[in-house]
Amino acid sequence: MDHQNAIETLQKWVDESRRIVFFGGAGVSTESGIPDFRSQDGLYNQTYDEPPETIVSHSYFMNWPDKFYRFYKDKMIAPWAKPNAAHRKLAELEQAGKLTAVVTQNIDGLHQDAGSKAVYELHGSVRRNLCMNCGAKFDGVDIILNSPGVPHCPRCGGMIKPDVVLYEEGLDENVLYGAVNRIREADMLIIGGTSLVVYPAAGLVNYYRGRRLVLINLQPTGMDGRADLVIAGKIGEVLSQIKVR
Ligand code: NAD
Repeated sequence: MDHQNAIETLQKWVDESRRIVFFGGAGVSTESGIPDFRSQDGLYNQTYDEPPETIVSHSYFMNWPDKFYRFYKDKMIAPWAKPNAAHRKLAELEQAGKLTAVVTQNIDGLHQDAGSKAVYELHGSVRRNLCMNCGAKFDGVDIILNSPGVPHCPRCGGMIKPDVVLYEEGLDENVLYGAVNRIREADMLIIGGTSLVVYPAAGLVNYYRGRRLVLINLQPTGMDGRADLVIAGKIGEVLSQIKVR
């Protein structure tokens, strides 16, 4: 199927569906200027002392919080980033009553900035933080960015941890079950901007039971063979062509 036919099929399925779920990853935010992990200019292909998956792991955070925070502040927080056409179209679909959930592996909060309400953040958010000692919660990224080194709790002095799921950590069960239920009930599942290699998140695709599984990604993924429609392209460019009606 050529690109134009694929877009037309996507439009037809969007028109016919009432319970669309979008499942996305870091590729959804590259058009907002945030690098992903596995693209050519993604963080895995930049040079650091250690690979990113080592730095953003629980044990690394506990052992070398100073080095963790240097990387985290530099590469994982992007307070300047704005939602792109993909985030905006998904919010529009939700407002029109056609999309029931955005399930995301992203931690950047851009879906909410675009107006999406039902957002399942599988890997947490850079915009929430908590004190590991007294449990105090801190919204936003200021507490992190305004601390010169490792951020500490202004109340008790304990170390502050971002509410993001690091490697070696489990997913929040409520978020996971909510996402599973939305995907189970979906009459269309659009997957975009994810290499589908990070588990258990990628395994959520298995809960979809319908026949409109759409994959929109720049590079091929291991699940292309299972999709009913594969569109190779930029997610913002593709979704901006879809009319909500
Ligand atoms: P990934 O880096 O493994 O894969 C990104 C995929 O998106 C690639 O297959 C790439 O070809 C594709 N892609 C890139 N730009 C695209 C675009 N404009 N349109 C369509 N496809 C595009 O990302 P992942 O699968 O989400 O896994 C990485 C992990 O890193 C996730 O768990 C996530 O939590 C985290 N992460 C998050 C952010 C963020 O919050 N913005 C950024 C980097 C990494």
